[in-house]
Amino acid sequence: MDEVQLNNQITMPRLGFGVYKVPNEDVQEAVSTALKNGYRALDTAQFYQNEAGVGEAIKQANIPREELFITTKVWNSHHGYDRTMEAFEESLEKLQLDYVDLYLIHWPVPEQDKFVETYRALEDLYKSGKVKAIGVSNFHIHHLERLQKETDITPVVNQVECHPYLQQQELKDYCKRNEIFLESWSPLFRGGAVLQEQTIQDIAQKHQKTAAQVILRWHVQENSLIIPKSVTPSRIKENINIFDFKLSSAEMDTIQKLDQNIRVGKDPDEMNVTSL
Ligand code: NDP
Repeated sequence: MDEVQLNNQITMPRLGFGVYKVPNEDVQEAVSTALKNGYRALDTAQFYQNEAGVGEAIKQANIPREELFITTKVWNSHHGYDRTMEAFEESLEKLQLDYVDLYLIHWPVPEQDKFVETYRALEDLYKSGKVKAIGVSNFHIHHLERLQKETDITPVVNQVECHPYLQQQELKDYCKRNEIFLESWSPLFRGGAVLQEQTIQDIAQKHQKTAAQVILRWHVQENSLIIPKSVTPSRIKENINIFDFKLSSAEMDTIQKLDQNIRVGKDPDEMNVTSL
């Protein structure tokens, strides 16, 4: 499995397993299947309400802790220094862990204007050793610029919606300049229309791969991190099997042409504390 080195020198698997919308009662089985199939990074969040099931799957798997890379996130309702510290302790307890590998601010929620204070809590958690790396999610360039001005530690990742219909080129360029990895959420456009695109299907056929594998491979060659979600065992296997082929630069160009600024989620500037 491909690994990347983050800007604080720790390593992180290129591909992880996302568990958004997987109910707590189902998540243990899905995560167990993922771990059996070689996934070592898991992406959960306070908001997903499935950290307990993820923690149980981790415990049952009996994999040395240092081989795993666990990400969780503080939710919009818990911004602010003290609330974030509380949220973190709750997540740790639910996950049954002593530390998490990566802790993220889930959304900037500009109308609350507390993400800088929230990030300071993340910095202190990092300094205490309870998290190995800190980062953000759904941050536009202007949110990142504010952190750069007002805080000390550069986030290691910015986890944002990214797929062939929303390629985030400007943000990718900014992240690259600042040694921040872009991590793609909904990398498969949530299983939607992009998988049916004829151009993707043609590329897939040429490589004897599926449309999903081609799209995930595109992300890898864009130097993004990916966290595809599936509760279907065959797809869980399929989605990790993307490190044995390479798209040509012509194929990468073809996929680039699908960019059309379509989102499955909210624009981060419009997310407020009461909306999902
Ligand atoms: P994905 O793009 O990963 O798509 C998941 C959907 O695609 C599911 O319906 C799944 O179906 C289907 N699918 C998975 N693999 C395949 C395949 N090989 N072929 C066909 N269909 C497939 O969407 P998500 O929104 O779940 O994003 C991934 C992860 O990103 C989340 O789980 C979460 O961890 C994170 N995320 C973070 C957000 C943030 O704000 N930071 C927001 C949203 C997501 P099935 O499960 O039925 O197999």
